[in-house]
Amino acid sequence: MRVLVSDKIAKEGIDILKSELKVDVRTDLTPDQLREIIKDYDALVVRSQTKVTKDLIECSNLKVIGRAGVGVDNIDVEAATLKGILVVNAPEGNTIAACEHTFALMFAVARKIPQAVSSLKSGRWERNKFTGVQLSGKTLGVIGLGRIGKEVAKRASSLGMNVVGYDPYIARENVENLNIKLTDLDEVLRTSDFITFHVPLTKATRRMIGEEQFKIMKDGVYIINCARGGIIDEKALYDALVSGKVAGCALDVFEKEPPEDNPLLSLDNVIATPHLGASTAEAQIVVAEEVAKDIIRALKG
Ligand code: NAD
Repeated sequence: MRVLVSDKIAKEGIDILKSELKVDVRTDLTPDQLREIIKDYDALVVRSQTKVTKDLIECSNLKVIGRAGVGVDNIDVEAATLKGILVVNAPEGNTIAACEHTFALMFAVARKIPQAVSSLKSGRWERNKFTGVQLSGKTLGVIGLGRIGKEVAKRASSLGMNVVGYDPYIARENVENLNIKLTDLDEVLRTSDFITFHVPLTKATRRMIGEEQFKIMKDGVYIINCARGGIIDEKALYDALVSGKVAGCALDVFEKEPPEDNPLLSLDNVIATPHLGASTAEAQIVVAEEVAKDIIRALKG
């Protein structure tokens, strides 16, 4: 049984795979090169970089595809399922890393930390320019109350924030102990000072926030997206940032990654990281181990 690992994953996961299977780690392949060699493998392990398209799936003999992370939106799951290929992910390992990154971004955007650091490092001392806002006493809207959303809600309460949430797929009992008001999307948008997104990218969530939704929001709202690019319409977000409707925005994810000449990155009130939500040493080890064990289970039973 042969496994191809086409994105960088932690050594701990590779070691588990190697204990049972023949493993090739090739993180330098172009889509064409990958397409050429894929037929020789029973399993493929990816992180975010490799796009497992219908075309790639159809010319493969794969039995299982593993994603070292939560979202499987870089894999055409429908095409894989039609071909009888199992798709496995590592849903648990990233939760705390993504939650903590959400707060890193929330504090950073509220206190203009990246802008202040870069001003100071370029020799300026601009104390008045970087007055921020406090999180305590503010309302945080959490869109999506799964693993990450719930951890975010928990920590937000302990920071003195009021939490309102929207997730039509969870039962009220699920968030009973979280001190959170579960309500509809419009109310979350209307009442929040900060809004953070923790939904997967699906047909229903793609561009769930556009021009109409920004109109409902409070003036001077802060937006944090550490889930997936594409959930927020980037053109509408740009307009809302320029008009001042949105005071500041923190993005870890983009519709197109890397974002290249994305106009959002030219705005002073946008701070951004290059999809680092899951990038902690601890999370990378756990997700690599989780996915490796699932691959072995799928191939060897
Ligand atoms: P999860 O599946 O535990 O939770 C997602 C929640 O979203 C679920 O409760 C679901 O009911 C809800 N949801 C689905 N569709 C919705 C809709 N239309 N409206 C409102 N709620 C909806 O997933 P999770 O582990 O909490 O991760 C959430 C997302 O965060 C992932 O899908 C992934 O895209 C993203 N993520 C990003 C990073 C990063 O590196 N930036 C790291 C980990 C996860």
